[in-house]
Amino acid sequence: MKIAFAVTAVSLVFLTIACQTSEENITPATNTTTNSTNNTTTTSTTTTVKPSSQEIYDTFVRLALKNSAGTAAMTIRKWLPTKTQIKVYWDGGRTTTLLSALDKVMADMNTLNKYNKMVRTEVVAEADIIINRVEAATHNSKYTSFQVSNSSVQGTTFTQWSSDAITKAVVWLSPTTPSNLQNGVLRHELTHALGIGHTENTKSIMIPVMSSNNYDFNTFSILDQRIIQILSDNRVKQGNTEANISAVIKEYAAK
Ligand SMILES: [Zn+2]
Repeated sequence: MKIAFAVTAVSLVFLTIACQTSEENITPATNTTTNSTNNTTTTSTTTTVKPSSQEIYDTFVRLALKNSAGTAAMTIRKWLPTKTQIKVYWDGGRTTTLLSALDKVMADMNTLNKYNKMVRTEVVAEADIIINRVEAATHNSKYTSFQVSNSSVQGTTFTQWSSDAITKAVVWLSPTTPSNLQNGVLRHELTHALGIGHTENTKSIMIPVMSSNNYDFNTFSILDQRIIQILSDNRVKQGNTEANISAVIKEYAAK
């Protein structure tokens, strides 16, 4: 899926994230995030904008209950609420700066998600989420079940799930992503690893094509905070349809 929108800010350069997402219930499912181009100074314009109740409802449905094209209904995918820790291992291409950015994303998610607390691990064998930031060919040779098909993209998240929960996620980050975009790509991909897809709403970091100056990459927008809170509510279960959980979505949307 490729969607582009015009950027009317002073900057002529923008981050493009285009994605192909496989929503079929296969293992592993793939969710590919792409960006090209460079970037300029980041300023936040939509991160703190309060979304309407209808926006929250519609965006959650789009992110969690629609296929990548937004044309077909699908069901919720998420980590089991009884899984108290999701262990994250950074494999290749880690830096002190990136690990700090990862810690910030995890801390933000842990504030919003009461059940699945993300923690870093140095033991790959126990990792639930693996991050690898190396060239695609190097990644593919090591993670043969989670191969990057488009090496020109900036990030790819693969999720693998059983009948009742997500069981593993592997995130590939391009080592050539400009440093001032890395936090945004990292936050976007880690959010995929929770079990959600894309939206066209520019108040969300989960837009497939993102202006570099419409989102503060170091925090979640109010809209994204609501989305993560809804998904992590333990009344929302893997396999649920919109009809199953519409009352819960409305409850958060009304806050
Ligand atoms: Zn994406």
